Amino acid sequence: MCNWGTDKIIYVIRRNNNLTSDGWHPVAVDFCIADEVQQMNNRGIITTGCCCGHGKRPPEVLVSLESKELLDKFGYLYEIYEDRTLLVNLKK
Ligand SMILES: [Zn+2]
Repeated sequence: MCNWGTDKIIYVIRRNNNLTSDGWHPVAVDFCIADEVQQMNNRGIITTGCCCGHGKRPPEVLVSLESKELLDKFGYLYEIYEDRTLLVNLKK
C-alpha cells in the first residue's frame, strides 16, 4: 500500500477505445501494484483502471470484458463490475 499520488508509469494495452489509438500507452498507477498490473498487460490482459486501495480497500484492477478468457487462463479472481468491465481482486 502506498500513499495516494505515489505513482509509477507502466504501459498498458488500449484497444477499441474511442479515447485513444490501439496500442501500448503509458499510464501512472499506484506504485505498490504497478508491477503486477504491468504483468497483467504483458500477459495480454487489458486493464482499464486500478487502485491499490491505500489501506482502506483491497487492491483492485478493472479489466475489459474481452480479457475474460485470459483472466481464467492465468487464474485471476474477478467479478462482473459493470456491463463491459470485470473487477479483479489482487489479494488471492
Ligand atoms: Zn499503494
